[in-house]
Parts: sequence; structure tokens; C-alpha cells
Amino acid sequence: MNKYEEAFRDHIGNQTIDGKREWIYPKIIKGKLYKYRTYFSWFLLAFFFAGPFIKIGRYPLLLLNFIERKFVIFGQPFWPQDFFVFVILTLTFLVFIVVFTVVFGRVWCGWACPQTIFMEMVFRKIENLIEGNANKQKKLDAMPWNREKIFKKSLKHTVFFAVSFAISHTFLAYIIGYEQLWAQITGPFAENYVTFLSLVLFSFVFYLVFAKMRELVCIMACPYGRLQGVMLDQNSMVVAYDYLRGEPRGKIRKNEEQDKKGDCVDCGLCVDVCPTGIDIRHGTQLECINCTGCMDACDEVMVKINKPVGLIRIDSKNNIEEKKGFKISTRIIAYSAVMLILLGSSVAILTTRKSVEANVLRISGSTYSESADGRVTNMFNLSMVNKTFEDKNFRLELESSKNTANTTLIMVQQDSVLKSNSEEKKVFMIYKEQKDINKNEVPMEVNLFVDGELIKTSKFTFLAPVRE
Ligand code: SF4
Ligand code: SF4
Repeated sequence: MNKYEEAFRDHIGNQTIDGKREWIYPKIIKGKLYKYRTYFSWFLLAFFFAGPFIKIGRYPLLLLNFIERKFVIFGQPFWPQDFFVFVILTLTFLVFIVVFTVVFGRVWCGWACPQTIFMEMVFRKIENLIEGNANKQKKLDAMPWNREKIFKKSLKHTVFFAVSFAISHTFLAYIIGYEQLWAQITGPFAENYVTFLSLVLFSFVFYLVFAKMRELVCIMACPYGRLQGVMLDQNSMVVAYDYLRGEPRGKIRKNEEQDKKGDCVDCGLCVDVCPTGIDIRHGTQLECINCTGCMDACDEVMVKINKPVGLIRIDSKNNIEEKKGFKISTRIIAYSAVMLILLGSSVAILTTRKSVEANVLRISGSTYSESADGRVTNMFNLSMVNKTFEDKNFRLELESSKNTANTTLIMVQQDSVLKSNSEEKKVFMIYKEQKDINKNEVPMEVNLFVDGELIKTSKFTFLAPVRE
């Protein structure tokens, strides 16, 4: 084996032996998996572009307005003080990703990551439509600048920039909301030039990513990709080449005995379709995004030569070595259970969170006071947090079933409005007739109504002297 054949060990797939970038022209093979990926990408793309317009109740599905510190996730408004929820959800998400990757490999990258979806299902298709298939693209790049090349290249890059422009608008709509985005792009330029410059900047970044960087994002920039080495093990399900079945590989030649050869006919089609330029027959590699393109390609070859499909398939290294074939193992069940628990906890956190929170506490250091007319008074603080983006009306009432004979509640501040996205403290006093008090500590309750809806019942103790 010469040093060029071993080059994959210390070179990434899109690099020449002397360290230069090699432009990748992947073939598109429209096999069964490619079709499924296409349908799934339509769903994801529709979801991405429709996302800013989808509302759950009064709120958008997702809003991440870092500028005004407004956050909405799945229609639930969040407040900066809900930061712990973000931390819990982020940690859950990270653990989920690690566990998912340990079991199912990098299937996210090939099938759901926005980078791959846009690159393979939008930009690559536009490129194929304008410049032709991989061979025609190679020829076009190699030819001198003539009318055809200028036309095709300028058309392609104009369309690329237009799509990037659409992506950047959608991206910004997730940040500031589509209503605000629309108001700004239709408003006077002098007042909205920051938005305009941001859109142009984002568009250039997306254009560079999809027109120039391409697979480099997956191979070099994405931290998830870089971490594959520590997340995968020999039981992880990945796109893998069955070397026991495939080797020794060799082209089919007339008058040559085929029995001693493996099933791989060394046609190279699995390499030709790879968007990261690798040869999966070298084993699992950092560059493989599990797009399953090579599986489609190899299955097509196997069908042509009358061999069973699945020479390249989703399987683990151990399964291939032990010739076991895919089966749902205890490990997969256990890890999947952990993922379900994590998902369930996240859903529970999101759905049980209240958009208005309240707390009643005795004013620090106070007990009671007595007045000349025979009444005892206690003072309390009502703390409220309104996490929504609307003002709310509130009222506080004594729970009548709890020792409230001849008892009055009076708010010190008269306003009953709880401002949007705010935290407020109100003081209230409870007056009770001395004659109705027969113990030092009288348990009581108050009900807080927000926009007419009971949101919290707080228990507290009314302190009083007892006269014999
Ligand atoms: S090796 Fe196969 S699955 Fe991996 S990136 Fe290349 S074509 Fe996709
Ligand atoms: S596509 Fe299949 S048969 Fe062809 S080189 Fe790849 S593994 Fe071998």
C-alpha cells in the first residue's frame, strides 16, 4: 500500500495530498433513501419558513429577541429570570444529543441539520439545475471564461444570493418577530438602516457558507462534528461498509474468477456521491455526515450485479464483525428510554411553567399592630412577575373559608395593573377584629386573580395578641 492510498488517515476528504482544497462535485443518485430525505427536507424547509408565522395562542412558536430580551419557546413566553429553565433545557438537549449520537450515530447531520438540508436539498439542486450534473460542473469549472460560463456562473450566484437573502429574512423574523420585521423593511430607510445592514450581512454569511465553505462547515467548523470521536463507539449505528462481505474488492473482468473476490466491485460510486469526499470503505471517519448517499449508490450497483443490497448500510462495527445484522439491542432500548425521560422532563418543564407568578410574604421584621378601635393589623408583601408581553389586571381576595369573620384586606397601592414583562411588589394589610381572635397565630389564605382567573392561593399566618 503506497502513501497515497493511506492518505485518508491524516488528510481530510476534500484535501489534496499537498494540503490544497479539492472542490467536491458529488453525484446525485436518486435512490430510495434520497427520496425519503427529499420528502423529509420539504417538511423541514416548510417548517423553517413558516415558523415565524405560526402562533400558539397569542404568541409565536419561537421568538429569540435578544435585543429586547423577549423569548418565546413553543408559544410560552420566557423572562430573563427564567434563565434556569433555559439552562435545564439546554443541558437536557446536550445530553439528549450525546445519548442519541452514541446509539444512532450522526443521523442528525445527514437528515435534519439545517446546514445539510440547505446545502444538499436547496443549493446543490439549484447548482445541478443551472450547471448540470457533477461531470458537467467539472467541465464548466475547467473551461476558460466564455459566454456560457459567465452566464451560468452569474445566474447561479445570483440565485444563491437571493435564497440566502430569503434565509436571512426568516432568520431575523425568528429574532424580532415577523410583524416587526415587516414594519422595518417597509419603513423609512433612515430609521431602519441597522436592520437593512444586518440582513445584507447575514445574507453574505449564508451565501459564503453555501457557495464556498460547504462541507468545510461540517468537517472543520461544527463542534458537534468535531466531537464524533468521543461520542461514537463500536456499537454505535453508523453508515458502515461491510468489509467482510466486500473484500477483497475488485472490478468484474471477463475471464476472471469472481469467487475469490468480495462483493465490492470497486466502481467508486460510493465515493463519487459523497458530499464530503470520503471513501466509506476506509471505515467510520470524522467527515461522514451519515447522509446515506453512498448506501443508495452501492445498492444501485448491487442490484445491477445481482447481489444482495446493504453492502454499505446502517450498522455497528461490532455487528459487522460478528456478522449479526441489525437488531434492537438492550443498549438501544435503555438509551432510548433515557432520551424519552429527558424529552418528557423538558415537555413537563415547559408546560407546567406559569406566565404569571406570585408570592406572599410577611413584611420583614414585622409582627402586628393594634389600633384604638380594637382591630389588629398585619402587613404583607405581594410579589408578582408578569412574564407575558401584555399588561394584566389583578385582584387579591381573602379566601372566605379560612377564618375571615370581620376581617378586611386593603391594598396600600390602589392600582390593579401588573405591567407586561415586569416584576412588581405591592403591600397589603389585613385587619381583624380583636374580639374574633382566640389564638396567636391564625391561619389564613388569599386568592390572587389575574385577568379574572385564579392563578394562586397563598397561605399565611395572621399574628395577634390573645386577650383573656
Ligand atoms: S460516506 Fe456516505 S454517508 Fe458518509 S457522508 Fe459520504 S456519502 Fe454520506
Ligand atoms: S459503491 Fe459499492 S461496489 Fe461500488 S465501490 Fe462502493 S462499496 Fe464497492
